[in-house]
Amino acid sequence: MELRKVAEVLVKAKYAIALTGAGVSTESGIPDFRGPNGIWTRNPEAERRAYEIYHVFLRDPVEYWKETLRSPFREAIEKAKPNPSHYALAELERMGILKAIITQNIDNLHQKAGSRNVIDFHGNIYYLRCLKCGSRYRREEFDLSRVEEGLIPYCYCGYPLKSDVVYFGEPIPRDVYEKSLEEVERCDLMIVAGTSAVVYPAAQLPRIAKSNGAVIVEVNAEPTPVTEIADYSLRGRTGEILPKIVEEVRRIRSSSQESS
Ligand code: NAD
Repeated sequence: MELRKVAEVLVKAKYAIALTGAGVSTESGIPDFRGPNGIWTRNPEAERRAYEIYHVFLRDPVEYWKETLRSPFREAIEKAKPNPSHYALAELERMGILKAIITQNIDNLHQKAGSRNVIDFHGNIYYLRCLKCGSRYRREEFDLSRVEEGLIPYCYCGYPLKSDVVYFGEPIPRDVYEKSLEEVERCDLMIVAGTSAVVYPAAQLPRIAKSNGAVIVEVNAEPTPVTEIADYSLRGRTGEILPKIVEEVRRIRSSSQESS
């Protein structure tokens, strides 16, 4: 019943967007951080290290690159394929309903599933970024095979490059933040899917949308701080619920075409 209602408000929305988190990618085999099987839930040491890595880059970029390329998390991401959550959101975009996705994920799976307007709020592992001039490059433009010998990538401005991934304690790049805010201020509906909504400033985005009058639809396995401001909360797996929403939207659209 709730699902049908969500499909109805989506069909009526003029500018719907989505904010996604690690939960939309767990069904692709990439563990989240804070869910029941999350990397940090199981290994608090990994959480401690995640808070340090940005400072490792600032202090010693060679050490940072060695550690980054050895990460098993990176390997898991590179092997992963999009799942029904990603395809459902891409389909909603193709249907003209979803205008943008702001993702906290770094795995590029929305793009692989065919979504076109994706903002990588916390960066993307397939890109590198210069913290000095802000340039962003595709990773394959650089040879990362000799990092163990101390040969790391440099920006054309002369500054050592970092992965585009935004770490804890690191500011969101200005262009990314501004583009996200533009989408949030424009939207009249926001789907918030697979995020524990505790990482700021991303966690602020549904609140900004809500304060502008947008409808908030949460899809998550467990309650989160967004639940209290959500107009609709759908509890369960995003890989099951999002495709059902798409199905329901199709049904509503085809029945309204028949009756007109
Ligand atoms: P999180 O780990 O804090 O929370 C994930 C949430 O999704 C939890 O509430 C969990 O219960 C829920 N969830 C897990 N699997 C689900 C499923 N199949 N269906 C519905 N809900 C599900 O993740 P977050 O809020 O995105 O914050 C963590 C940060 O870590 C983000 O900034 C992100 O950049 C990064 N991260 C990214 C990836 C990735 O790129 N795939 C993976 C892990 C962490």
